[in-house]
Amino acid sequence: MKITSIRLGRISVPLRTPFKTALRSVNSVEDVIVEIGTDGGNVGYGEAPPTGVITGDTTLAIIGAIQDHIGKTILGRDVEDFEPLLQAVQGAIVGNTSAKAAVDMALWDLYGQLYNIPVCKLLGGGRKQLVTDITISVNAPETMAADAIKALKRGYDCLKMKVGVDPTLDVLRLKAVREAVGQGITIRIDANQAWTPKQAVRILNQMQEQGLDIELVEQPVKAHDLEGLKYVTERSFVPVLADESVFSPENAMTILKMGAADLINIKLMKCGGIYNALKIASAAEVYGVECMIGCMLEAKISVNAAVHLACAKNIITRVDLDGPVLCSEDPILGGAVFDEKIITVSDAPGLGISGIEDGKVNWFWDTSALA
Ligand SMILES: [Mg+2]
Repeated sequence: MKITSIRLGRISVPLRTPFKTALRSVNSVEDVIVEIGTDGGNVGYGEAPPTGVITGDTTLAIIGAIQDHIGKTILGRDVEDFEPLLQAVQGAIVGNTSAKAAVDMALWDLYGQLYNIPVCKLLGGGRKQLVTDITISVNAPETMAADAIKALKRGYDCLKMKVGVDPTLDVLRLKAVREAVGQGITIRIDANQAWTPKQAVRILNQMQEQGLDIELVEQPVKAHDLEGLKYVTERSFVPVLADESVFSPENAMTILKMGAADLINIKLMKCGGIYNALKIASAAEVYGVECMIGCMLEAKISVNAAVHLACAKNIITRVDLDGPVLCSEDPILGGAVFDEKIITVSDAPGLGISGIEDGKVNWFWDTSALA
């Protein structure tokens, strides 16, 4: 199975409501789509969101990385020669993890098709379903409480609340939401780097003292501040999950050795795809540190790849794959079924994506431009 073509397109999928975190506010998913073709007619799909405030990857950077570096490296190669191919993707350019992730997942898709097996099974997985949380954007306390009630009505029982915009409001936000939803609903919070270490300990311990029952806090402090992260981990009653602090397997190893976090959030867009995500999961497994699988604002192609990974790894105990259910439409055909909180993996070969609705992708480049 030789790689004969690569196509790039752009897709725009509207969100149900604006997505707001301590770092940004967004109205739609605007992703780059990668389609890799082979001599036998098989097609592998990948997707990458431009999440500049987290990964540094913009739309044009993702496109440029694939056009000028990654694409040229893999074109003409045999999918059967799989690990060297994945390594070539990682080695084609420094950084650019979102572009690498999009190509990496398209290659896994093809490799699964080559041997007629779903990627989750290729990875040794037995799970068929996952239960995801849903994100509540950061807003005024009463707005967040109303949004939380809406989420409960859609069947969710685990809420991920974004906090950190005007931190003086964060305890009030939690209080409003906990009072609205009652006990028995899991609440996790994500500060997206907004707090200082001391502020984090103070806010988290206040939340704990008030009985607000927080399952975990994601990335309380700046991504680079591993000492600060460790400070919070050691002093807070609330378990700390490292998100923006962990991009690469090397980052994960540093955090694991330091004991700087209680949990690790794996995202394909941070680590460059399934190949590196597996290394992070294995390292965490060795240290007995449980992982969350997360996503950016992504449509179904890339979140579907994360579903396959999560179905294969028991160390991934928490699922934050709400990208597709935050969207108001789903133009992607095939793949996992997202029925609100229940995600059911597809048992079709590869990643199971069968195509994209006509007219939804603006295809603007293919490798014939290289000839
Ligand atoms: Mg996060």
